[in-house]
Amino acid sequence: MHEISLDQVDSSTYDVLIAGGGAGGLLTALALSAEGKRVLILEKAERLGGVWHGYWVNGYRVDQGLHVISRVNHGAFARLLNTYLTPPPEFVLHEGWQFRVDEKVGSIPSSIGEVLRWPLTGWRGRLGLLRIGAKIKTMKLEEMKKYKDISFLEFMQSRGATNQTMLDVMEAAIYLAAGVPISEASAYEALRTLKDTDKESSKLGSVKRLLLGSSDYDEGYVIGGMDELIRRTIDTINGDYVLNAPVEQIHEQNGCIDGCTVAGHTFSHKYVVSNIPLWSMPEIIDSNNPEVNDFFKQWSNMKPTHGITLWLGLNKVIIGDRKNRVLVHPIPNRWIVSISSFDSSCAPEGKELVAVAMMVMPGKSKEEMVEVMKGNGLEKYHPGLLDHIEMEHVQMSYATRAALIPGQTDLDRPGPRTPIKGLYIVGTDTAGSGVGLQQAAQSAEGVVSALNADF
Ligand SMILES: Cc1cc2nc3c(=O)[nH]c(=O)nc-3n(C[C@H](O)[C@H](O)[C@H](O)COP(=O)(O)OP(=O)(O)OC[C@H]3O[C@@H](n4cnc5c(N)ncnc54)[C@H](O)[C@@H]3O)c2cc1C
Repeated sequence: MHEISLDQVDSSTYDVLIAGGGAGGLLTALALSAEGKRVLILEKAERLGGVWHGYWVNGYRVDQGLHVISRVNHGAFARLLNTYLTPPPEFVLHEGWQFRVDEKVGSIPSSIGEVLRWPLTGWRGRLGLLRIGAKIKTMKLEEMKKYKDISFLEFMQSRGATNQTMLDVMEAAIYLAAGVPISEASAYEALRTLKDTDKESSKLGSVKRLLLGSSDYDEGYVIGGMDELIRRTIDTINGDYVLNAPVEQIHEQNGCIDGCTVAGHTFSHKYVVSNIPLWSMPEIIDSNNPEVNDFFKQWSNMKPTHGITLWLGLNKVIIGDRKNRVLVHPIPNRWIVSISSFDSSCAPEGKELVAVAMMVMPGKSKEEMVEVMKGNGLEKYHPGLLDHIEMEHVQMSYATRAALIPGQTDLDRPGPRTPIKGLYIVGTDTAGSGVGLQQAAQSAEGVVSALNADF
């Protein structure tokens, strides 16, 4: 793909116009390119990628956020990249989740044996976990859907699962997936996350896993980081892009897409894909059709989740393993990952890059949150880490455009089509299961199949 200016655009030479070049827009463009289509991406910012981003700071390569890529073996994100990038990217799986509750460390148990040995609670807590764990592991997707309008906390309370340590660990796990506490997360999404299934598995399979356990983590990092992945994606796309090109209006005429306007330039086209967040679409859609305006208004109330990541470049290796750690206490929960243990090229030789992340705390300044992140848990449980910092870098952003809360689960998303024929929407707020990049990739797959049906 080549960068061009607005003056150079001849919209008739493209098969599809894409408004916004975040993960959703770029992955749509990648899949369309593989089918021989040519695209034009109009991007508001001065670079492509949106919140999918990676860059260098003082010799360390950081990603926007932690970027634990979920479903590396079975998900849409890895599927798209493995299919369309040659050679395919190399993913490194992590060695598991570790939850620390005060002085004790454990993972989320995946079998009866593990529950009975769970170090984080006493016998009463273990028995409670056994009951609720068995229920979740054997629950079918159809039953989970019944809980889409209540919170996970309400679900747990309705089942008598009230052991506080268990709830705290669940909270830490669900925070990462849904970006909200269990009192706000949709029970349906939380249950799916805990069962860890994209595809519905058989009840027998669930029981087998429950009895025998499963150490199959399907999450990891990509060698080369996000920066490299985005660069390769952009190189592979067939077409052009314009930066600093905010799409100001998308025009509808007689129920069909008529084109879009950017800085006084109007480009006509029959097919437009919008990766613009749904919350800003009502101001962008130019239509007198009440059905169209109601549609975009209805979907503009998505609640984003906000994350903060503190990157620490250490002048020696302190942690040095591929575990994903969560400090459950002291609350708020924090995730700690040694990224350079996955890919040593992101830190200078003999040094370490560590990421610490948590959800943004409402009402606190960035500096206050950094203090919280460096606070007692880090000093106490990772001694030496704070004494060896030679690079410190903080990022804040929305992590996904739609939190997985009751009323906004993947069952409550608009999908790729709009009431305007020829206008499609893509991004984490439009469709798809999973979280983050996985969700953006699912939505891109949905748009591509809708487009293929309509071309
Ligand atoms: C702190 C943090 C941690 C994260 N951690 C993970 C993780 O561990 N695992 C994971 O899988 N994912 C993670 N993610 C999430 C993942 O990066 C995002 O969910 C995904 O990249 C969002 O893609 P999107 O297509 O929805 O859109 P966006 O990134 O929102 O892209 C939208 C694009 O449209 C552009 N745009 C907006 N308005 C206009 C306009 N009017 N005209 C033209 N262009 C416009 C924007 O500039 C942007 O480029 C994290 C993100 C962050 C920030």
